[in-house]
Formats: sequence, C-alpha cells, structure tokens
Amino acid sequence: MVIIESSWVKISHESELKKLGGPMGKINEDKVEEIKEAHDIVDTIGNYIEVKSSGSSYKALCPFHNEKTPSFMINRDKQIYKCFGCGEGGDVLTFVMKMENLDFIETLKMMGEKANIDVDIEDNISDQERQETKRLYEINRKAGLYYYRKLTSSKNEGLQYLKKRGVSSGEIKAFGLGLAEDRWDGLLEHLTKAEYPRETIEKTGLILKNKHGDRYYDRFRNRIIFPIFNTRGMVIGFGGRVLDQSLPKYLNSPETKIFNKRKILYGLNLAKKNIKDHQIILVEGYMDVIALHGNGVKNAVATLGTSLTKDHGQLIKKYAKEVVVAFDGDEAGVKATLRSIQILENEGLKIRILSLGKKEDPDDFIRQKGKNIFYKRIKESPNHIEYQIQKIREKYSLSSTEGKVDFSKETTQLLRRVKSPIEQEAYAEEVARELNLSKDSLLREIRGSQQKYSNKAPSDQSSSQGSNERSGSNYLHTMPSIEKDGHIKLEKLIIKFMMDNENQIPFIKEHVAIEDFSIESHQQLVRYLFYQDQQSSGDYELQEHKDLLDEIAALDRQEGEIQKILEDYLYNLKKYKLIYRKKNLEKQQQELLDSPNIEKEEVDRILLKIGMEIMDINKDLQNHQLKEGRGQDE
Ligand SMILES: [Zn+2]
Repeated sequence: MVIIESSWVKISHESELKKLGGPMGKINEDKVEEIKEAHDIVDTIGNYIEVKSSGSSYKALCPFHNEKTPSFMINRDKQIYKCFGCGEGGDVLTFVMKMENLDFIETLKMMGEKANIDVDIEDNISDQERQETKRLYEINRKAGLYYYRKLTSSKNEGLQYLKKRGVSSGEIKAFGLGLAEDRWDGLLEHLTKAEYPRETIEKTGLILKNKHGDRYYDRFRNRIIFPIFNTRGMVIGFGGRVLDQSLPKYLNSPETKIFNKRKILYGLNLAKKNIKDHQIILVEGYMDVIALHGNGVKNAVATLGTSLTKDHGQLIKKYAKEVVVAFDGDEAGVKATLRSIQILENEGLKIRILSLGKKEDPDDFIRQKGKNIFYKRIKESPNHIEYQIQKIREKYSLSSTEGKVDFSKETTQLLRRVKSPIEQEAYAEEVARELNLSKDSLLREIRGSQQKYSNKAPSDQSSSQGSNERSGSNYLHTMPSIEKDGHIKLEKLIIKFMMDNENQIPFIKEHVAIEDFSIESHQQLVRYLFYQDQQSSGDYELQEHKDLLDEIAALDRQEGEIQKILEDYLYNLKKYKLIYRKKNLEKQQQELLDSPNIEKEEVDRILLKIGMEIMDINKDLQNHQLKEGRGQDE
C-alpha cells in the first residue's frame, strides 16, 4: 500500500489544552510533548493489538473498524498512526485515549505517571497539597521496601510461615511481600531517620498515636505485609496478616487521601497486562491472588477484604468482559458470591461461578492440582443464572409439593431478570422438566407480569454519536459500539468521495443502497447525491445539514483508497445485516411460541421454515468470517 504522505501530519493537542481553559497547573504543550516522548508509539500500540513491521513502517488490523486486511499504519519516525480505512489517526495519546475510553486529562495522568512524569492537573489543588500527596506515595514506597527487606534479608518467622504455605520466593518478589517485625516502632524509627515528619507519616496510616496522644507507634506489628498497588503500580496502602492466632487476622491501612478500598482490586496492577479472552478471575483473598499468579493464572484479582462495590464492578468492566467469581465454598463465600453477581450483572458483565468445594479455596486448589485442572474447572463452571438456580434448588425439598411451589416461585423471579428470550426459554425448559411442569406454563408465569420483552440490554444504549441513527438501518444496533464509530466514519468517507467525484456516483450506487446508510441524515444526503440530476431532489435542503457537510468536508482526503473503504464498508454491512436478520427471526420464533391463537401444526410449519432460514444465515456468517481469516490472499 502506498502511504499518502500528506496524511502524516504533525499532531498537536493545543485544542484539547485550550478547551480545558483556565490555569492548568503545570500542563502545557511542553509537558504533553514530554509525556509523548516517554512512550514509543509502536511499543504502546503493540501492548493493545498485534503489530507487524512492514518495510519502514508498521501495520495492524484497525481496532476502530472491522476489517480483514490491515490498513492501520504506524510511523515510528513521526510517532503517529493512521487508518487508511476509516481515517482514524493521531499520536500515542490519541490512541490510548480511544482504546482506554479516557478523556485527554485522564490519559495524560495515566501516561505521565507511567513514565514518572509529574502531571499536576487539578488546578484547585494548592502546591502544598500536591506536594503532600507526592510525599504519601513516597513514604509508602519506602515503607514497602523496608518491610520487604525485613522479610527477605534474614531467616525469620514470616519467611517460615510463607514457605509453609507454599509461597515461592518468586511470588514474594513479584508481590513485594514483607514483614512487620514484632516491635512497636520499627517502621517509625526507619521513616523518622529518613526525616519525614511524624504528622505526615501518620497521614499514610502506617503509624498511630497512643491513647494519651503523646506518642506514635507502628500500625502493623508481627504481620506478613502485602503492599497494595494502584493500576499505575504505585504503593497506596498495605494489608497485614497475623503470624500467630491473634485477631484481627487481616488488617488493612485505613482510608487515606490516596487509598480507597472501594475502588481498588488487589493484583490488578499485574493482572491488567495478562487479561486473555477478556476474562478476569475474582477471588477472595491476597493469598489466592498470589497463588494463582505464581502458578500461571495471571488474571486474578481480589477485593481488599471488603465486599464488592459498584466501583469495583466498573473497574473490572474497564479491563474485561467476563468475570469468573471464585470465592471460598463456605457459607460466607456463597453469600458474597450472590451479592457480587448482582453488582457484576448491573455492569453488563458475563459471569461464571467457579465452586471449588466446601473446604477448598483457590490458593490450596491451584497449589495442589495445578493450572490445567484449574482452567478445566473454569470451563465446566456454570454461569450466574445456572448457579443461582442451583442455589435455590438446594434451599427446598423438591419431593414435597410445597417445596416445588417455592422453588418455582423463586426461579420464576430469577428468570424474569434474564434479558434474552432465548436464554430465558432454555432455563425455563430445564426448570420445567425438573418440576414436571409444561415449559409454556412456566414461561407464561415468567413473562406474565413482564411487558413484552424488549431486547434492550442496558449496555446497548452506549452509542457514542448523539445523532439520528434510525430508519432502515437497524443493523447498526447489533454492532459493538467500538466498531460503530468506524463504520459511521466509513459512511462519511463514501459520501465525501461522491461529493468530490460526482462522475463516480453511479459506481457507488451499484454497490450501496440508500437504506444501507445507518444515519437518517446520511440517507438524505445520499438520496440527494444519487438523484440530484432529477427533479425529485428539490425537497432536500442542503442547508439543513450544514454541520454534517462541514464535518464531511473536514475529513481527510482518501484519494485512491475508495476501493478499500468500500470493501471494508460492504464487509461490515453484510455481516451485521445478517446478524440483524437472525435476531429478528429469533424474535419471531419466540412470538410464535407465545401466541395462543395459532394452530399447533401451523406453528410447527412456520417454525421449521424460520429455523431453516436461521441455519442458512449461520452458514453465510461462517463463510463471511472465514474470508476475514484468509485476509488478502483471496
Ligand atoms: Zn480503521
């Protein structure tokens, strides 16, 4: 592919900076440049998607639109990227911003901290406060190092305890484990020698004042220390486990300016780099996380001894689509599991429940049985609905009528929450069989008090463009939102091409229909372009769509690339139209099953017809995706 040189422009973030307005602490263009320089674009993008080198530049499959041959180019010399399919382009900050779904400031913060560059952003924070926050991080880091040395530099009880529990020295190192000795002022002495004021140390929660308020002492004594890192790898707090039988068994740093338990997941700083198949494993304790990571299961995280919060759910959502909840098998563990399901479900995450048996936790399990058996158990584990049905079943005796009634009542309530009618029906069938009921009567019970199932999953509403996507373009709703933006951009590029090359309009007309365009204003514009030489175009007022026209005019020129744009566009179109058609047929199926007024034979006949059509679509989709895999060799 020939790279159009003019597209490789220098990226400036001046406008973003201006938009922020007001005094921005120390953020200015120089600072932005400094942060950019600290992150090579090829390496950074390589952390997110597979990048191949291609002559003097690098290429990849564009993560912003669906494509089968790579048109996403990265230029290392200029430190910019550009997709010649959908036109997305920018520098390392733009890329991270898009991929992580962050705003400009959040991106600067994240990338700045990664590179150890001070990013002072909150302009309402005084210099003094800013300095103090920095201090707290520093003290925590020093304390972590102090504890680590105490644990690793000589024989001691802590080391003995960890060895006994099977913790390897690699695990100790990876998690920076430490030891708080059995004395009242070890850390206090160490930190005051480093000339930190006691009042500042107190703000980290590492030391406390005695009852009389005249002396300080160490919070953590005679404990194994687990430093807690934020996702940027900075120590923000500590957990400590007793070495003897004293209580509390676990003790954490108190909430501080930089430590908020509701928003932190232990191990996420390591797990986030190792998330495969969009999956995170959620366990109960520090020791579970350490054992799993140490044995090759590197996507495990835990809460800090608190129950899962909405903030945790959102945090997980940022990194994964599926959560495997692997809590202890005891009663408390089951309760915590059920609570977590609600939170994770609200975030639209897929959920599986891994139960390892009443007396076992992931720590013991993985150390005894190894990674492969652990993964096998995950594969066999039920999803959250199956798990909850199982738990309801355990509550009642199904041999009594009363038990059956209670069981069906509770499962009915549960299944009302299932959004997909097809899934709902599958579960209902299973429950009905168990109760010796007809599936239809159970479904009636489930759906009776529910309005006609609207297929609106909460996560579906996240379309990022506020404009009027409507009319014949419903296929857009089946498209993942990250691809949607790219697809809409491709549409605009096609329109731009027609506006710039009027003699080529018949060529486009041959391939794309007006109804294919996903946004109503696009359709109107295309209708105008298609028929502008005919009188019927008179009712279209270009002025009405001035903003859209401006936006299209501002797009990069993609001359010579229309073939490619069209190819990508038509590819998306075919795929998502098939998916949309399939969803519609499935809905029809459901409606037929629910309809009381049609003869059974008639229903069966229509169902068979629809079933065959769905099979055909599945075949088409498969073929379509096979082509995708084969790439450009066709
Ligand atoms: Zn693209």
